Amino acid sequence: MKIGIIGGGPSGLYLAILLKKQDARHEITIYERNGPNDTFGWGVVFSDKTLRKLRDYDAESYDSIAKAFALWENVAIVKGEDTITIRGNRFAGLQRLEMLQILSRRAEALGAKIQFNTFIPDPEALRDHDLVVGADGVNSLVRQRYTEQLKPDISTRPNKYIWWGTRQLFHALTLTFREFEGGVFAAHSYKFNRDMSTFIVECDYETWSAAGFENMTEAQSAAYLERVFARDLGGNNLLSNKSQWINFLLVKNRNWYFENVVLLGDALHTAHFSIGSGTKLALEDSIALFEALQEQPSVGAALELFTERRKPQIDEYQQAAYESLVWFEHARDYMHLDPLSFAYKLMMRSKRIDHENLRKRDPEFIARYEAAQTTVSS
Ligand SMILES: Cc1cc2nc3c(=O)[nH]c(=O)nc-3n(C[C@H](O)[C@H](O)[C@H](O)COP(=O)(O)OP(=O)(O)OC[C@H]3O[C@@H](n4cnc5c(N)ncnc54)[C@H](O)[C@@H]3O)c2cc1C
Repeated sequence: MKIGIIGGGPSGLYLAILLKKQDARHEITIYERNGPNDTFGWGVVFSDKTLRKLRDYDAESYDSIAKAFALWENVAIVKGEDTITIRGNRFAGLQRLEMLQILSRRAEALGAKIQFNTFIPDPEALRDHDLVVGADGVNSLVRQRYTEQLKPDISTRPNKYIWWGTRQLFHALTLTFREFEGGVFAAHSYKFNRDMSTFIVECDYETWSAAGFENMTEAQSAAYLERVFARDLGGNNLLSNKSQWINFLLVKNRNWYFENVVLLGDALHTAHFSIGSGTKLALEDSIALFEALQEQPSVGAALELFTERRKPQIDEYQQAAYESLVWFEHARDYMHLDPLSFAYKLMMRSKRIDHENLRKRDPEFIARYEAAQTTVSS
């Protein structure tokens, strides 16, 4: 098959790896507008379950990834003077650039072509291929070009967020809430290698607007946030990588494909970063599409099967991610809670974890919470 993949992010690269590994005769070209050493952002997160999947589908790239990632077990919730730790949440963090380089090397070693620094202005130019894959991220041009056929549904969420790096090491997935000059700020942070952590700051529009971020340079935003999170950053700076304030885009598509064009990863669907699943979902989309292409004799039938199987899973994830994003949009409403109750509510925000599930993960935390509730009610 001749396959054109627009976008050399995790979804496009992993699809190329799986297909080439299964049949070296596939002619696969990945078109990537950036160079091999460019990337935005810092680190990404995977759960244990995702890592096991990656090992099963391609042990070579998994081995390289496993050498590079940082592991942690806990979620830490910081509010005021308190840090509440909830155990039993195993995750791995990895530098995005390193992950892309590992996947690129593996795809090229298997014979896929990657054309870096190649922007595809119109996917119609590739329509003579057997399959055209729009793996071109949240602002997908493929999705825009075929709006009529794919019928996207995009909503711009009200909160503002910005993605920084820092040398301060957060050894747990740390969610920090700070009130500062009348605003409420949340930071999502985690280490992704031995030296660096990702530090995403999110706030509601009122906070953002009152702080005057609209008229600040990147350096001024960093300086302001270094004051907000002074006690958390331990004197380390916030480091930029083309960091800018943006709004989260919630992407859905009524149709996932038409004729020989299919969307994958963030182009197809987004899940709020507070449940840390964007890269996981992108890679798992590639696995699902790969399997459908193995099982069906024609591209059309494979794309139909891909949608039929994968869509219910994505709908469920997007629902959980939606609950989580709404919680963060209303974080201000929970700030009056004591740290333990606040942490308890935060852990259950996506409605995927309930009281008993939390007890299994961390019985000590639940025992503390229950004891505090008994004290309050007696
Ligand atoms: C603030 C923030 C924090 C996040 N945190 C996490 C996290 O903790 N864990 C996690 O798993 N995920 C996280 N994500 C999400 C994750 O980065 C994405 O979900 C994931 O990278 C999606 O992969 P993708 O392959 O679909 O698209 P992308 O990684 O976006 O890749 C798309 C690629 O297409 C290229 N491209 C676009 N248009 C064209 C064109 N016309 N021609 C050629 N090339 C083109 C782009 O340059 C890019 O390389 C986060 C995202 C954000 C914004």
